[in-house]
Amino acid sequence: MVKEIVKDESFLQIPSTPATEEDLQTAQDLLDTLLENTDRCVGLAANMIGVSKRIIAIEDEGKFLVMLNPKIVKWSQPYFTEEACLSLEGVRKTKRFRYIKVLYFTTDFQLRFKTFRGFSAQIIQHEIDHCNGVLI
Ligand SMILES: [Zn+2]
Repeated sequence: MVKEIVKDESFLQIPSTPATEEDLQTAQDLLDTLLENTDRCVGLAANMIGVSKRIIAIEDEGKFLVMLNPKIVKWSQPYFTEEACLSLEGVRKTKRFRYIKVLYFTTDFQLRFKTFRGFSAQIIQHEIDHCNGVLI
């Protein structure tokens, strides 16, 4: 189900807790909400739809990917860039890494270990920041 985007910064600064099998509906809602907003958004974290669980949905080179409990375990090639966020006004400067290795679970609770680069890596870093209660 498509949900409203949360803009309350004090709520968004609360770190999210690990997702479990009970959160699969939230994962689906997050994907539905991302699909509804593809004209202005490339990724969402669950707290942006009001659920403080570690779930993100991203656009990855034209496909859509839902990640449960994503964790970056390797970073390389830092750079500075500017980002916007559906929950915030304007554009803000931030530091990102061109290559990241991420451990995460699929919605079938299969563990994955995958390298992402470029824009996909940037989106994942932004959304994992949301899971940690960090706003750009
Ligand atoms: Zn954001």
